[in-house]
Amino acid sequence: MSDIDMPAARRLADITARIAHAASLAGRKPDEIELIAISKTHEAVDIAPLIAAGQVSFGENRVQEAEGKWPGLLRDKPVKLHLVGQLQSNKAKEAVALFDAIHSIDRPSLIEAVAKAMDAAGKRPDCFIQVNIGEEDQKGGCAIADLPAILKQARDAGLPAIGLMAVPPLDVEPAPYFALLAKLAKRHGLAALSMGMSADFETAVMLGATHVRVGTALFGQRG
Ligand SMILES: *Cc1c(COP(=O)(O)O)cnc(C)c1O
Repeated sequence: MSDIDMPAARRLADITARIAHAASLAGRKPDEIELIAISKTHEAVDIAPLIAAGQVSFGENRVQEAEGKWPGLLRDKPVKLHLVGQLQSNKAKEAVALFDAIHSIDRPSLIEAVAKAMDAAGKRPDCFIQVNIGEEDQKGGCAIADLPAILKQARDAGLPAIGLMAVPPLDVEPAPYFALLAKLAKRHGLAALSMGMSADFETAVMLGATHVRVGTALFGQRG
């Protein structure tokens, strides 16, 4: 491994160790938690060292950016790509083609578009229903009250709905929101929980996260 690769490998080892520690505090096994390296805005040259260090799961939040970056890049390696940002219905086809998991399923029109794209492609990426857990204006995710109907629609349409995803409100203690999301997932028989980012992934792991989405702590500040 070259010197240039070391910082990324070290950051990855540090985050992995912190996840393992948080898991052990909660009596969980570290391998129950998938670390998704959020590589939005970062170039191939920054991503390659993490892949070389063994990182498998990466997340992007814009279909177009990911399409430009990933197909040419590094897909000979066993990389798993997650879409974590809001998805427009008119990009459903591209999203289904490129991603292995979609974390932002949150409304009837999008479920219809994604189901149609999955049927056409014969490919069914894992889906998370995004919940607007802080009931904020201008935030992606379905209202908590709408979750049962959205989930039923997704299941009826053949989307593999494996779990819930949320981004809690900024600048407030996230733990109550993580706990609420975990409770909702349990109530609906969903095993996967996509929650926790650079500032709070350890809290999320202690409260049951199965997928943490870490950008800044792995790549440094976005430009
Ligand atoms: C950017 C982003 C992240 C990563 O955030 P960091 O604070 O950089 O770790 C996680 N989830 C979503 C949905 C994002 O858009």
